[in-house]
Amino acid sequence: MLPIERQKQLVTWLKEEGTLSIAEISRRLNVSEMTVYRDIKPLLEENKINKTSGGVSLVSTISPNACTYCLKELNNRQPVQIITTQQTVEQLCCPHCGLLRYKDIEKNVSQIICRDFLQNTTISAKLAYFLFNTDFNVNCCQPQVLTFDLLKTAEQFQKGFGGTILRFDEAVQEIARRMNGETDCGCSK
Ligand SMILES: [Zn+2]
Ligand SMILES: [Zn+2]
Repeated sequence: MLPIERQKQLVTWLKEEGTLSIAEISRRLNVSEMTVYRDIKPLLEENKINKTSGGVSLVSTISPNACTYCLKELNNRQPVQIITTQQTVEQLCCPHCGLLRYKDIEKNVSQIICRDFLQNTTISAKLAYFLFNTDFNVNCCQPQVLTFDLLKTAEQFQKGFGGTILRFDEAVQEIARRMNGETDCGCSK
C-alpha cells in the first residue's frame, strides 16, 4: 500500500472506531510503528487528526459543540473562534480558553474572533479590551476573562464589578502567567 492509501484507510477506521493506538494501526496495516508515525505526520500537521493518550483520533470526532482547549461544552455567552492559516475553524468556550489556545498555536492563527460581553457583537480579539478579575461570575473557566469592544464599556463594567483591563498581547501573557500558578492581584505592572 502507498502511504496515501494507508492514510485513507486509517481515516476510515478512525471515523468508524474513534481512537486507535499506534500499535494497533501498525498491526492492521502490517507496517512498523515508525512508518505509522511517518504516515500520520502530515495528517497531524493538517489538523485532521489529534494525538490523544490512547493513540490518535480524528479531529472531527471531538464534538462540534466542545471547546477545542478544555473540551467543555460550548454554552457560554462569550464563545471565541480561531481561524487558522489552514482555514480550519476552532471553537473555544470563552476568552480564557481563546487566549490559551492562541498562545499554543500563535503562528498558525489567521484570525481570532470574540464577542463583546454586553452587546454580543463580533469583534477581532486583537482589538478587544480584556477584563480580568471582575466580581461578575459567568461560570466558565477560571481565571475568568470578559471581552469588550469599547474601552468605555469595559471601564463602565469595571466600575461596577472591579477588575483589570488589558489589551490583547497583555491578556495573552497574563493568562499564561496565571495558569503557571503565579498569583497576585493580577495588575499589569
Ligand atoms: Zn474552554
Ligand atoms: Zn471556558
